Amino acid sequence: MKVIEAKIVVLGSQGVGKTSLVVRYIGKMFSKHISPTIGASFFTCNINVDDARVKMQVWDTAGQERFRSMAPMYYRNANAALLVFDITNLNSFSAIKGWVRELHSNVQEPMVLSMVGNKCDLEDKRAVSQTEAAQYAASIGANYCETSALHDQGIDQVFRSTAAALLKMSNTGPASLRSYDSADGEPHRLPFGNPSEETATHTGKVELPAWSIDNIAHGEMQRSMCC
Ligand code: GDP
Ligand code: MG
Repeated sequence: MKVIEAKIVVLGSQGVGKTSLVVRYIGKMFSKHISPTIGASFFTCNINVDDARVKMQVWDTAGQERFRSMAPMYYRNANAALLVFDITNLNSFSAIKGWVRELHSNVQEPMVLSMVGNKCDLEDKRAVSQTEAAQYAASIGANYCETSALHDQGIDQVFRSTAAALLKMSNTGPASLRSYDSADGEPHRLPFGNPSEETATHTGKVELPAWSIDNIAHGEMQRSMCC
């Protein structure tokens, strides 16, 4: 079976529902690991697309987005980003532009972008039209989906379409999105986000993350997908 590994970062203003989306997607299993005091957290999940498996490492913040930027390590080796805003909050939609800028200045390789309008259960308070959001998403080459973490709507679709796009990109895309055949076993590699990898891959300058590997919560789950 063809296997690819990808890092997905979740970005957006504070309060748009990033953590709620991630927690809803992975279920209760992860919520016990989430603490507001940690710097960032990630979980891994496997999504099977056709006859391939996409191992996704999804990174969520723990509030650093209030400074409108994230530590470089958050972005390092990212292959996809979920750009989340709240459909009832125009500022959170306007802020996506800044996140895209920051993303492009931190990640040089091609990425899969998905824009997510969350809180679609609050239709009566909508401040951003679906058309406007979809137009902006198209202008940055992103897919657009609306979700409700509250009602568990549209979330599977976001992760499934991201996995499918990553698989497609792995055929032509950057070396960091390596694929291997599971029959040959996993390639020898350091886990993502390991501080020693950080040092080893960074030439000239060593950047110490503001938080250490000990602070990264890690959950694991399996999901299968059929198209
Ligand atoms: P984050 O700062 O982006 O991680 O946002 P949180 O996940 O912490 O959510 C911020 C607030 O929005 C919380 O009070 C959530 O309960 C609420 N929230 C998140 N998603 C939804 C949603 O889909 N609908 C509604 N109505 N509220 C939501
Ligand atoms: Mg959060």
